Amino acid sequence: MKSIAIVLACLALCVFAVGAQAQMDRPTQTFKSSAGPVKITPVFHAAVEIEAGGKVIIIDPAKPAVFTGVPQADLVLITDIHGDHMDADLLKSVSKAGTEVIAPAEVVKTITTAMPMANGESKKWGAFTIEAVPMYNMTRGPAAGKLFHDKGRGNGYIITYGGLRMYFSGDTEAIPEMKALKNIDVAFVCMNLPYTMTPDEAADAVKAFHPKVVIPYHYRGQDTTVFQKDLAGTGIEVRLLEFYPKA
Ligand code: ZN
Repeated sequence: MKSIAIVLACLALCVFAVGAQAQMDRPTQTFKSSAGPVKITPVFHAAVEIEAGGKVIIIDPAKPAVFTGVPQADLVLITDIHGDHMDADLLKSVSKAGTEVIAPAEVVKTITTAMPMANGESKKWGAFTIEAVPMYNMTRGPAAGKLFHDKGRGNGYIITYGGLRMYFSGDTEAIPEMKALKNIDVAFVCMNLPYTMTPDEAADAVKAFHPKVVIPYHYRGQDTTVFQKDLAGTGIEVRLLEFYPKA
């Protein structure tokens, strides 16, 4: 009897350890809304998964993101044409029968099944509201007179569910439209050079629109603790999550 108890105790420990490991791999954040919990899981770089009301929304599924253990999407939002956001193969692998895709018109040229949405447009999708907002460079580009992200081409998104407003910046500098955002509960904000902005610039923009919680994403190669220090004492909660898990 004693040995059976020991075996059972070991088994329980093992199951707990595996569960804890899975949580470590994907640091899911749970937020309250008037319609129930919203779970947001970082996958890789710009790829994020949202679960609420029995629906799964995936943003920017693109290689080398690994979606093992992440459910198939009911809706996919794509922000821009670059390979770290638009990936036809990975889109297929996270989709199922009936998966809908929303994307800017430039993306729809490649992902022809996607529904186009432009900056400033808003759309009801079941219990969710999806708003497309601007994302662009003001100064940075691959050559003089060129920008990495031209104004109007890509979409950031605001997703609202049960009153909870979640902002995903896409690839952008600290544009006036971001600074003017209102009532954001959770903001995912990019920061990486040379393509978007520095952690300091991102912090300045975030101070202006003052979300309740901010989470750096699309931050490859940057020191996000600089961003965190910049926001100390502002009342904005900074959560640093691992978006580049080692294989
Ligand atoms: Zn990008």
